[in-house]
Amino acid sequence: MVFKEIETHELPDIQSTGILYEHEETKAQVLYFKNEDPNKAFTIGFKTPPYNDNGITHILEHSVLNGSKKYPSKEPFVELIKGSLNTFVNAMTFSDKTIYPVASTNQKDFRHLMGVYLDAVFQPLFIEDPQILAQEGWHYHLEDPEDDLIYKGVVYNEMKGAFGSPERQLYQQISAQLYPNSIYRYESGGDPAAIPGLTQEDFVAYHQKYYHPSNSLTILYGDLDIEAAFEDLEEYFSNSGEPVESVDLEFDIVAPEATEFTDSYSITAGDDPTDKDYLAIAWHAADPTEPLDGFGLKVLEEILLGNNQSPLKKALLDADIGGDVDGGSAELGYPTAFFVSAKYSDTDKMTKFNEVVVETLEKLVQEGIDQDLIQAALNKITFETKEAAISEDNPRGVLFAITALSTWLYGEDPYVNLEFSKYLDQLAEVADQGYFEELIQEKLLDNLIRIEISLKAEPGKSDEMEEQVHKELQEHKSNLSDDEIDELVQETKALIERQDTPDNPEDLAKIPTLTRDDLTTDVPDYPLEETTFYEGTSFYHAEQFTSGIDYVSLYFDIRDFDAEDYEALGFLSSLLSNLGTENYDVGKLQTEIDTHTGGIYGRISIFENQEGLVQPYFVLKGKALESSFDRLAELLKEIMTSTEFTDLPEISKITQRLISGFENMINSRSHVLAANRALSQVRPSTKLNERTSGIDQFNYLKTVREELREGKTAISETMKVLLGRLLNKNRLNILYTGEKERAEIVKNNLQEAFSDLPDEALDEAVDYQPGKKQNEAFVTAQDVNYVGTGADAKDILPFNGASNVLSTAIRFDYLWNQIRVKGGAYGSLYLHRRNGNLALGSYRDPNLRTTLEVYRNLPEYVEHLEISEEELTKYIIGTMSPLEQPKSAESKGQAALTRLKTGISREDIVQLKEEILATEVADLNELSSNLQKALAEDTIVVIGNKTQIEAEEELFDEIFTLY
Ligand SMILES: [Zn+2]
Repeated sequence: MVFKEIETHELPDIQSTGILYEHEETKAQVLYFKNEDPNKAFTIGFKTPPYNDNGITHILEHSVLNGSKKYPSKEPFVELIKGSLNTFVNAMTFSDKTIYPVASTNQKDFRHLMGVYLDAVFQPLFIEDPQILAQEGWHYHLEDPEDDLIYKGVVYNEMKGAFGSPERQLYQQISAQLYPNSIYRYESGGDPAAIPGLTQEDFVAYHQKYYHPSNSLTILYGDLDIEAAFEDLEEYFSNSGEPVESVDLEFDIVAPEATEFTDSYSITAGDDPTDKDYLAIAWHAADPTEPLDGFGLKVLEEILLGNNQSPLKKALLDADIGGDVDGGSAELGYPTAFFVSAKYSDTDKMTKFNEVVVETLEKLVQEGIDQDLIQAALNKITFETKEAAISEDNPRGVLFAITALSTWLYGEDPYVNLEFSKYLDQLAEVADQGYFEELIQEKLLDNLIRIEISLKAEPGKSDEMEEQVHKELQEHKSNLSDDEIDELVQETKALIERQDTPDNPEDLAKIPTLTRDDLTTDVPDYPLEETTFYEGTSFYHAEQFTSGIDYVSLYFDIRDFDAEDYEALGFLSSLLSNLGTENYDVGKLQTEIDTHTGGIYGRISIFENQEGLVQPYFVLKGKALESSFDRLAELLKEIMTSTEFTDLPEISKITQRLISGFENMINSRSHVLAANRALSQVRPSTKLNERTSGIDQFNYLKTVREELREGKTAISETMKVLLGRLLNKNRLNILYTGEKERAEIVKNNLQEAFSDLPDEALDEAVDYQPGKKQNEAFVTAQDVNYVGTGADAKDILPFNGASNVLSTAIRFDYLWNQIRVKGGAYGSLYLHRRNGNLALGSYRDPNLRTTLEVYRNLPEYVEHLEISEEELTKYIIGTMSPLEQPKSAESKGQAALTRLKTGISREDIVQLKEEILATEVADLNELSSNLQKALAEDTIVVIGNKTQIEAEEELFDEIFTLY
């Protein structure tokens, strides 16, 4: 036995047995979480300390997936996703480690995934092929001697996009300034200014040093064939040469020399920088040897900053330090920091910020923290932790692997954070004995390892930097000889040729795939029983095993509300549970919610059936342990029927927070925003979503903020009237997800709770319309673009097996190559839905017009698409994969209602699967003209860089400033 069992550990909190093995030759450790979960997972991680900001660890993570000895095609990773039933495939770089996790419910598929990943990390081709670093990291790009010289590369652009986020910059500075004598001062993702310093030589040497079995930690999880897994590991672990000297990620944590740090971040040129600065105070708070404090700090975060009423957050907001306050415990690697930050602030307020923080914390220690508050926070963290450990929405094997590494990587017991009940129970015991007060005193007030950080808003900073880089590049070019320029052009052309050349079929065939025989057309049934709730309304019971949790949603029918009401309805859904009610002030309400439930929140849900009928609902969702259901029902009623809208300063704070969340979304999900915006111009249901959660909602929030600043009070009345109109028995339907014997109890309880609601006939349903059809651009401070387009393909492009397989080919072949590999964008999006929604989008894209050309050429690609039988099978498997994802009980309940409301039966999905399995290449080619026709009527929506948008202004009917 080459893998020797070292110890076994029962882990009841995650229903697993942990078995630790050691590989005899290399001493590499393997941890197996043995249990019945069919969603098997494999994660291999390496300690990868960065040595500067050149992004070496991140670019390495990308590059190992670009071909390996056994699987020499250009991107086995992508081929693998195409032809696998995986439930998770990814690779992630952290500040001190890089991990490669995969998961699948199919044993054969699981073994394929694991095998390809092992070959990728241990035998990558980039060692001999510098074009891989050029493509994934950076290269000088010069297609013609007369062109301007530019930098290109996937990570280069990814990080340019990431650096556009001031939140990320702040977070990075906390790590860098608090731990200046450690590896945690580096930007492991790569600073675009430093990435071009990375050489092929460094790159290869780094891999040889750190990607060795002796520097790896492997985690296996689930109901899998462990002997087969060991066989696969042994193939790479044995005879792997000299072990590396062990990498120690511990370091002496000492107070940084500087106590303050100031930097700036970019906002759009010409924008007013007033009140756009960021402030933060951060402390070193714990290391992996202090697990109780680790959990304690999470609870403390909830106590101090969990909601607008939490004492520290409230004090800072009331003192007008910033428009939004954030913070908490941050696991940066070996060290965990604790921080408080203020957004929409001014660097001049730093002194005052500090004073308020210190005074508030001192007061809490002296007077003692309200016990109800501690209990509420502790319950909230306990509920969340336990629910995450049973949820199937994300593979638990991957989640637990990351959790195990949070201590194991530093030589501690891997189980520490997976035995959470022990620590949560311990915290409950010491909660009333001054534990949290001491935590504040010791970890925050008396702590000298702290730093104050200010980030000043600087209009046009990124444009200037961009210009500077451009200038330097042209200077560099002017110093090159004709021969050197010629060489660059040749290299660029060679890279483009590499990208344009399809893999040879023999190489592709080496990647193991499932066959059509491995697939089934099984579709799980999600039961849903419909009974009468009030006259004319329904109680939907989705029977599921929920481990003792009741999931309840109130669905208020809003089909008779005008389209123009939806922005306000969206806002109202965000206010509920965040404002005081008749019986509770807002602080007390939050405490009640956290103490007795797993959370209560509002949202808008819009269904559209196959005939295009729009069915909109205002939803209030809640969940609680069965034993607390009565309290949940009372709170749902309290919030729904008696929320008060008179506290304008509070409404103002919530508005600011929503705007802040939206701005973060613009930095991270603008491809989706752009695509949805485009679709909202063709489809009524998408327009309603745009009003409640898209750019329309963002603009509405900004108007509300402006009116509140001007002292206007109309919003109170608007919200009151809106809520009043919702309160009507004829609107109220219930979705209950939980066990059989609970359904009747839940139903009776809720019927009783809402029995006082008025009983008035609803007005006629509104005939909702799409938005104005026009090409739009939205300018932001970012360096990159998100290029979206959307069209109504209903009755033009059929939604069937072939069109679904085509979607997979477009995503993983055409768009991947054109937008990511060649275009240098980080990612792309293609969606085609049953209702006819058809959209394309690019993510962190350096291009604009070129990307639109890629979209225009899509039908031609489809027409001439020639793929082998093997390739087609991969696409078919890749198309089936999303239909096979495990779901949590709550998601299954939700899916049952969605199936009912959208008129899609289980049989429809079975039929779709049958069609997918029967798809032929000719079926795909035939869709070219349909696609052509659908896209001919599309609209363009671009979110992105000001200069580039203005340079292409003739493309747009209107250009707006987004933020
Ligand atoms: Zn990346």
